[in-house]
Amino acid sequence: MKRFRRKFLRILGLSYFLSLLSPHNLLYAVTKKIINPNLTDKQKKIMLEEDTERPYSSPLNQEKREGFFHCANCGAKLFDSTAKFDSGTGWPSFTESLPGAFETKVDYSFGMKRIEYHCAKCGVHHGHIFADGPKSTQKRFCSNGLCLIFKPKN
Ligand SMILES: [Zn+2]
Repeated sequence: MKRFRRKFLRILGLSYFLSLLSPHNLLYAVTKKIINPNLTDKQKKIMLEEDTERPYSSPLNQEKREGFFHCANCGAKLFDSTAKFDSGTGWPSFTESLPGAFETKVDYSFGMKRIEYHCAKCGVHHGHIFADGPKSTQKRFCSNGLCLIFKPKN
């Protein structure tokens, strides 16, 4: 029994060591950089710890003007207002992002497999992409309004 346990521990140690070398760790390590010094604690918690704002809490749910949605941290242009739609979920939702605006990773938290997306420029978390969007793309970028700044055209 003792010998078995020692062997078991050795295998455990080895798999831990191998997991450190695995490309997954390198692939999924996203470097997040805070650029805007005026971010609130709540914004930082969402951006750095992948927290989620309360549904229906964002004034951007009602935003219907023409313009662009930017990253509240680094200012990068992320969504065109033409991609915004009312998903009824309580979070600002978009069918697509501007090309190259985001990078994605697979998120296994809460026992679900979800696609997380983060700003390609500064790395902070913005939301998750779901496959239940409108016909045009079938995608729903479910965004935290606190991570976005809207700038109207003109
Ligand atoms: Zn950014």
